[in-house]
Amino acid sequence: MKGYAMLKIGESGWIEKERPQCGPMDAICKPLAIAICTSDVHTLWEGAIGERHNMILGHECCAQVVEVGSMVKDFKPGDRVLVPAITPDWNSLEAQAGYSMHSGGMLAGWKFSNFKDGVFSEFFHVNDADGNLALLPSNISPVDACMLSDMVPTGFHGVELADVQFGDTVLVIGIGPVGLMSVAGANMRGASRIIAVGTRPNCVEAARDYGASDFISYKDGTIEDQVLALTDGKGVDKVVVAGGGCETFESAVKCLKPGGKIGNVNYLGSGTYVNIPRVEWGVGMGHKQINGGLMPGGRLRMEKLGSLVSAGKLDVHPLVSHVFEGWDHVEEALFLMRDKPKDLIKPVVKI
Ligand code: NDP
Ligand code: ZN
Repeated sequence: MKGYAMLKIGESGWIEKERPQCGPMDAICKPLAIAICTSDVHTLWEGAIGERHNMILGHECCAQVVEVGSMVKDFKPGDRVLVPAITPDWNSLEAQAGYSMHSGGMLAGWKFSNFKDGVFSEFFHVNDADGNLALLPSNISPVDACMLSDMVPTGFHGVELADVQFGDTVLVIGIGPVGLMSVAGANMRGASRIIAVGTRPNCVEAARDYGASDFISYKDGTIEDQVLALTDGKGVDKVVVAGGGCETFESAVKCLKPGGKIGNVNYLGSGTYVNIPRVEWGVGMGHKQINGGLMPGGRLRMEKLGSLVSAGKLDVHPLVSHVFEGWDHVEEALFLMRDKPKDLIKPVVKI
C-alpha cells in the first residue's frame, strides 16, 4: 500500500509499505476523507516529537472498515466510522485512572503518526476497535466528519480543562480550527463573554458566529494589556490556550482573575521552558491553575460529539476552508497547512 510519510525531520513524500496486520481486537480501515492538522506541521517540520523515519503522517480522518479482528463485537467490514485522533488502550492502568490519553506512557494514547503509521495511507490500523471507533451518523458528510477526529474534541477539551462555567468571561487565545471549537464549546457551556485572540479574517468571522463577543490581535500590543483594558482591569475567569507559544502562558496568567483556570491544548512545538510570572501568579498563592492536556479520545466521546453535529447543535462546516479530491492532493494540502495563507482554516482531502 502507499502512504504519505515523514521521511525524516523536514522531509516528506510517498512511500510503499506492507498493509498492517489486524490483531484480534483491532480493525483495518481505509480513509474516506482525511484532514491535515497543525500538529502534522509541528511533527514534520519542527521535529517536535523527535526524529521519525518513514512514518506515515496523519491522525484525522473518517473511514470505512475493511477488516476486523475475531474479538471485535460492534463493527464489521463496510461500516463507515468516525476515527478519533487519540486511540487509547482502554484496558491500561492509565485509562483506569482516568487518563486514557496517556495509556502506556505520557501522550501514548496518541498513536497515529506518533508511535505508529498514521492515516494518510490506503489502509491503516486501529487498536481496540470497539473502544475507539464510532459509527458515522448518516447525515454527517465525510468532510465534516474529519473535524470530529481532533478539532472538536481538542477544542472542547480545552474548555473542559479551563472548567468553563455559566456566566464566565473566557479568553480564547488562538482561533484557528482548534480555538474556534473552544469558542463554540465555551459558548455551549454558558460563557457570558468570550474574548478571542487571532487575526485571520475568516477565523475572526467564524469565531463571531461560534459565539465570540470581543476580539483582540496579539499583533496590536500585549494580550494582557488589551484584555485588562476590556475588563476594567479585572481580567477573565478562564483562559483556553489554542495558539501562541511558550511565552503565551505569561500573558494567560496575567489575564486571569485569582482562582481562575487555564486550559491549554496548544502543542508547544519549540522552546525549552514555560515561564510563569511570579507576581501575577499571586507570588505562588493566587489559585491560578494551569491545566494542559491531550484530548482523551475513544468511542464514547466520538459518539457524543458526533451526536451534537448530527442533531444540528454544532455546525463544523465553517472550519473547512479548502476541499481537495484524491490522494494526489495530500501534499498540497499539507503544505497549505504549513504556510497558513490568510484564507485557510482547515484543508480536507476526499479520497
Ligand atoms: P492554527 O495555527 O490554525 O491557529 C493558531 C491560532 O493562534 C491562530 O488564531 C493564530 O492567529 C494564533 N496565534 C498565532 N501566534 C500567536 C501568538 N503569538 N499569540 C496568540 N495567538 C497566536 O492552529 P490550530 O487551530 O490548527 O491548532 C492550534 C494548536 O493546537 C496547534 O499547536 C496544534 O498543534 C494543537 N493541537 C493540539 C491537540 C491536542 O490534542 N492537544 C490536537 C490538535 C492540535 P492568526 O489568526 O494570526 O493566525
Ligand atoms: Zn490533529
